[in-house]
Formats: sequence, structure tokens, C-alpha cells
Amino acid sequence: MIYEDLLAHIQTFAQIDWPGDEKYAEAEDATFVASWLIQNRSYHESLRDAKIKVLFKKDLGSRGTQAILGKAKAQDDLQRKISPEVEFVLLVNWTYWNDLKNEYKIILVDHELCHMEKLATEKGLRLKCLPHDFEEFATILKQYGDQKVLNFHNLTTLLLEQKKDDKETGTDKESTGGDLNILDEA
Ligand SMILES: [Zn+2]
Repeated sequence: MIYEDLLAHIQTFAQIDWPGDEKYAEAEDATFVASWLIQNRSYHESLRDAKIKVLFKKDLGSRGTQAILGKAKAQDDLQRKISPEVEFVLLVNWTYWNDLKNEYKIILVDHELCHMEKLATEKGLRLKCLPHDFEEFATILKQYGDQKVLNFHNLTTLLLEQKKDDKETGTDKESTGGDLNILDEA
């Protein structure tokens, strides 16, 4: 199924009625979107065989000025011992899901999947819930444009890697600041 077909399929999603006093409900639509993204997006490769339970919660509350639309959780060792069939939980805010445009539904699920990382290590399976690699104020995005701000944030990653490399190789040379040119490229 190509992306346009996914969008068209989301169009057919119907809002579920909230099941009484339940705290959580099956989120079949969001599960479908998550499966598509994991199969079709190379950056979710680590999740190809991950066991992800996608559920609606009636409301997830808010943070600052924004409603929390989704949440990702990695199950710890004890939770996996009790329920081996679940490695990650993706919660979707039922109160807002149906108000989201089709593409925003995809962005939401895609975003939450980016929090999840499944790695096979020497010590066994490692499930991680990753923090955001990009945090910014809307004012800064509006002022400078998203591409330039993204370049700026990529630079912070590059600089960190460079410092790590310098430490590992023992070189302590003065930074040339050459990478700062990235700021002017966009
Ligand atoms: Zn997030």
C-alpha cells in the first residue's frame, strides 16, 4: 500500500464509542497506521519485529499550552515477564484522535514510534524509550524558518560527535568552527 492509499484508508476510519468506565480501549485504526509506518519507513527498522500494543486512552491531559496526543512506553523487565507479548505501548488520546486530519494522524503515530528503540545487545534485548532529539520554541521556528532551525539543531549533534571523537583520539585541537557554515546554507 502506498502513502496515498494509506491516507485514503484513514479516511474510512470511524470514531469508536468510548466503552463505559474502561480506562483503555483497542485502537485498531492507529494500530493499522503504526504497522504501515514500521513496514514502510526505514527509520523504524529496529521495530520490524517489535511487539507494540496500540491503545486509546480517553484523555492524556495537557502539557503547558498543548494537549498531549500520544505517549510511548517501553515495557520494563518485570512487565515483559508478566506479559511477554507486549514490548512497547503506544497510547493515543481518544478525545482528539478523530479531530486530527488524516496526515496528522500519521505524524502523531510516526512521532510516537520514533520514541521506541529495540536493540539486540550482548546482554540481551534492550527496549528504550528515546527522548526527543529536537526541541524548539514555535517563535524561533516562525522567525528563522524550519529548515534553518533544523540545520542549527543538526549542528548541535555534529558538534557533540566531534567532541566525542576528539576525546577518543586524544586530540585537543582548537575548533575551526567550519561546521557553523551549516547555518548559512538553507
Ligand atoms: Zn514525543
